[in-house]
Amino acid sequence: MLIPDKKGYFGDFGGKFMPETLFSCLDELGHFYAKIKNNKKFKEEFTFYLKEYAGRPTLLYFAKNLSKNLRMKIYLKREDLLHTGAHKINNSLGQALLAHHMGKKRIIAETGAGQHGVSAATVARLFNFQCDVYMGEEDIRRQRMNVFRMKTLGARVIPVKSGSKTLKDACNEAMRDWVTNVRNTYYLIGSTFGSHPYPMIVRDFQSVIGKEAKRQILNKEKRLPDYLIACVGGGSNAMGLFYPFYKDKRTKMIGVEAGGINRNLNSASLNFGKPGVLHGAKTYILQDKFGQVKATHSVAAGLDYPGVGPEHSFYKESGRAKYVTINDKEAVEGFKMLSELEGIIPALESAHAIAYLKKLAKKAKGSLTVVCLSGRGDKDLEIVQECIDKTLNSKS
Ligand SMILES: *Cc1c(COP(=O)(O)O)cnc(C)c1O
Repeated sequence: MLIPDKKGYFGDFGGKFMPETLFSCLDELGHFYAKIKNNKKFKEEFTFYLKEYAGRPTLLYFAKNLSKNLRMKIYLKREDLLHTGAHKINNSLGQALLAHHMGKKRIIAETGAGQHGVSAATVARLFNFQCDVYMGEEDIRRQRMNVFRMKTLGARVIPVKSGSKTLKDACNEAMRDWVTNVRNTYYLIGSTFGSHPYPMIVRDFQSVIGKEAKRQILNKEKRLPDYLIACVGGGSNAMGLFYPFYKDKRTKMIGVEAGGINRNLNSASLNFGKPGVLHGAKTYILQDKFGQVKATHSVAAGLDYPGVGPEHSFYKESGRAKYVTINDKEAVEGFKMLSELEGIIPALESAHAIAYLKKLAKKAKGSLTVVCLSGRGDKDLEIVQECIDKTLNSKS
């Protein structure tokens, strides 16, 4: 089976729901990628940068205290140890290399919390691209440190004043820029979402996570894991871990979405959304009864997105993976649990996956589980401190 098919469909999901003006941009990218992806020199170059710049392979660490505590065997795939502190660099390096070979001189990106913007700005320096990052005005205000980080890395941050002044508006502006400047500009998308061929390209670049994890677990345990667990925002770290295990039917996959505050205020599109079209693909989307995209929330900025990559919608419908939610409070508990038991401070996004282990442990004692630790938590210390202060105040 070929997923996606030639038109970019994963079962019922995906596709290319774009204005005609963008079709030539997407086709150019699709054709170029098809030509280069199996090229030996391109693959060697990608592997070189993953190794020498980003720090791969990452460790597959046996979390002995956590395992003892939950009475399961738990391994952490340590994407938090990569340069820039999260898995996003894998994809940014791959796409920057693609842009370089396409002869582009400029890259553009959209960013919400600023993490993808930072990762794009980073690879722009490595390959000497001009870099413009679109970011909603509201997000610029909330994420001042990441804005400064991008500027330090020589990127221009362009404020987006339309709509809700957040991520989805930044995506729209980036697309507008791309159509106008496609001759010299590459649009570097940050997760497994958007129109074909992006979800496939990002998945392929992030698959290095799952390929390494598979080799490492076979080496250490001489068998495949019973469970794979990862948090799901746009879905790139989860798909990167899951995809190389797609055909290993005995390995169960669980994606953990951001349950936020309650059923009405969250970022759990697969759990609480319905199929629709967003940013060029058919997928699960959080929408109101008129089909308008709903406001989202998560304590983890990187999970705060109203849609999800179309391949996850396909995994959900076909039953290949299961999707669950962890709310803000549980995520903060997961953050504390891993810090206290293992001396590893996880990103709040990754803490969602960690927190789910506690629930899984009730029915999966003795099982072998690999969790994707997508990023490190230094960036989240202030937010967690605020959460703890708030609960202390409400108790007193
Ligand atoms: C951005 C981010 C995520 C969410 O993105 P996915 O594409 O769903 O992986 C998860 N964890 C960290 C640390 C992130 O920075």
